[in-house]
Amino acid sequence: MSPETGASARISVAIEAPRHAALGASTGLLDYTSERPLAPGTLVRVPLGRREVAGIVWDRPRLPDPAPGATIEEPALKPVKAVLDAMPLLSAPWRALIDFAAAYYQRGLGELALAVLPPQLRRIDDTQLSRRLRRLEKRDPFEGAVQVAGASPGDDPAPVSLTPDQAAALAAFAESTTPALLHGVTGSGKTEVYLRATSQALQAGRQVLVLVPEINLTPQLEARFAERFPGRVMASLHSALTPAQRLRHWLLAHEGRADLVLGTRLAVFASLPRLGLIVVDEEHDASFKQQEGARYSARDLAVWRARQLGVPVMLGSATPSLETWQRVLQGRYRRLALPQRIGGGELPRVRLIDMRTLPSQGQPAAGGDAMPLAPPLLVALRERLQRGEQSLLLLNRRGYAPVLHCSACGWKSGCPHCSAWRVFHKADRTLRCHHCGLAERVPRACPECGNLDISPLGRGTEKLEEQLAAVLPGARIARIDADSTRGVGELERQLAAVHDGEVDVLVGTQILAKGHDFRRVTLVAAVNPDGALFTSDFRAPERLFALLMQAAGRAGRDAAQSAGSEMWIQTTSPKHALYAALARHDYEAFAQAQLDERRAAGLPPFAHLALVRAEAREAAAATAFLREAAADLQALEVAAGVRAYPPVPPALSRVADVERVQMLVESASRPALQRALAAWLPGLVALRGRHKGVIRWAVDVDPLSI
Ligand code: ADP
Ligand code: ZN
Ligand code: ZN
Repeated sequence: MSPETGASARISVAIEAPRHAALGASTGLLDYTSERPLAPGTLVRVPLGRREVAGIVWDRPRLPDPAPGATIEEPALKPVKAVLDAMPLLSAPWRALIDFAAAYYQRGLGELALAVLPPQLRRIDDTQLSRRLRRLEKRDPFEGAVQVAGASPGDDPAPVSLTPDQAAALAAFAESTTPALLHGVTGSGKTEVYLRATSQALQAGRQVLVLVPEINLTPQLEARFAERFPGRVMASLHSALTPAQRLRHWLLAHEGRADLVLGTRLAVFASLPRLGLIVVDEEHDASFKQQEGARYSARDLAVWRARQLGVPVMLGSATPSLETWQRVLQGRYRRLALPQRIGGGELPRVRLIDMRTLPSQGQPAAGGDAMPLAPPLLVALRERLQRGEQSLLLLNRRGYAPVLHCSACGWKSGCPHCSAWRVFHKADRTLRCHHCGLAERVPRACPECGNLDISPLGRGTEKLEEQLAAVLPGARIARIDADSTRGVGELERQLAAVHDGEVDVLVGTQILAKGHDFRRVTLVAAVNPDGALFTSDFRAPERLFALLMQAAGRAGRDAAQSAGSEMWIQTTSPKHALYAALARHDYEAFAQAQLDERRAAGLPPFAHLALVRAEAREAAAATAFLREAAADLQALEVAAGVRAYPPVPPALSRVADVERVQMLVESASRPALQRALAAWLPGLVALRGRHKGVIRWAVDVDPLSI
């Protein structure tokens, strides 16, 4: 198309450029011309400088009318290069979602819009796209396991009959579209409720979006949906897909062919023309919050999206986030309760072991180090072993030992580039920094004084595994953590071995606590969970409680074995209120105590936060930038009621030789905070230009970890 021929339409295009870049600064949109009018939601390719980039035709922002008689200088607009109109438009509700998310999380509109599309869609041309769309009609074995309507007649297979609690929850859910919290202990049959609600939406001809924290850890959920709805097309959207699979699944959803979309946080942005229900499983899980780029909360956006469309949303959890719980207490969300385990199974008995009063730390095990497990716990493990039951030991620290240490001079294996220790990994005899990735062979002698006697301090999963092997001879021990599951399919293989009964004792990090339906585990033990009680992050207790409840939920899932199931906690603070609530499986008491503390301290959900992070080679440069930014904020009229705290280094202040400093911005009112951020942040682009030492800065709205 050439601009010289006849009149051309002026269009606004969302392109991949950060909000606060000079370009299209206020809207993130750039204007182009097109020979023919193009509807908002059309995918195009446009010139940008010397490059050609993908863009989406966007709604024209309403600009103020020019003063009468004024002349506006129009820059020469460039024509659109190509139009990809083989595919249906990205709908107005989808664009509204992007508009909202970009504004709320303070990102460029185009940057976000393009980032949430499958990467291949940003590169292919219209011919390739047409070919892709034709291929959707065929089943393609290389591009993902999508169920296609087959021989099975309509009469989704006869499911189990609901328990009275499940039936009541489902009936109440159908009554309105107010967001619903499905609050049920582990094993209480939440998934069955998701399946029934899904079935109803599918029968009404609607699409269903199911968001899960980590799809790699929940193949079971995918399998249960596929099994229940064999005649339906299911798409999945998560990071483990190849680019071709991702495009195919995204297009299936966008064209309305997929009835069900299961995915991780990014799937909240899937284009779904017939969307009729959103389910968020484990709504409290931190992985719903994106931690880089546009730091969005997929759970919060799911609620926004459902409200915008007037469709129901179901948030499921045994330990709801305090934000969600507070909304239930305020009556803004409904609570649907499943208080019992299916089949009358009991929740495990919680046993708190006071590690201060143990006579001795047991017999020295391998490495001459004290055994980390209390003698009564060892007895309980041996009993499980004899009965052929499985046990699960949770230790949230991978590697062999968190630090190597020289007893002669006091040297410790610090990372030269980060404010962190390098972890000793015995299996490959390396010292590895878990933050910058620096890995080196373990030195033979102390690098400071030459002493040959350097030894591990503390304990990670590798060492626990080794020590267990020494005290439980003959036991089949498996370690599951980020190190043991690096290879493709490795996690699945290891989990299958557990399910097949080839493992007696499982040792691992929190990977093990999530969602797995281990049928033979009757004992779960948290080896050393106290750390989270004493950190500066105000959400640490909430996360610990959720983790331990979830871990407890791995024990006694088979109702027949649940009576003897146990959750052991090794602690030096057995009287701590968190553990007391855990022992009673009393989420509500825990939540109430936490909310009281948060209210008194003016913390979320009673206040709203944004965190501005700055990085520089010298901490002083980042601090100076943030101080000046804070002064700018306080000078803004719209910032009344918004407060900036002094800049501070985070717990991990240096990573890969870059110093981090962060500043909390707080307001009791969410709209006030939003208005202030919108007025304030664009100015930080110029401010950063004057602070040459600052490498980058970013804002995190509703930060999860501070
Ligand atoms: P949750 O998601 O709350 O942890 P699940 O949905 O996984 O619980 O249910 C736990 C177990 O109970 C599963 O094996 C499931 O198949 C079974 N189950 C769920 N609902 C029923 C029911 N109404 N009748 C019989 N079994 C059920
Ligand atoms: Zn030394
Ligand atoms: Zn490092």
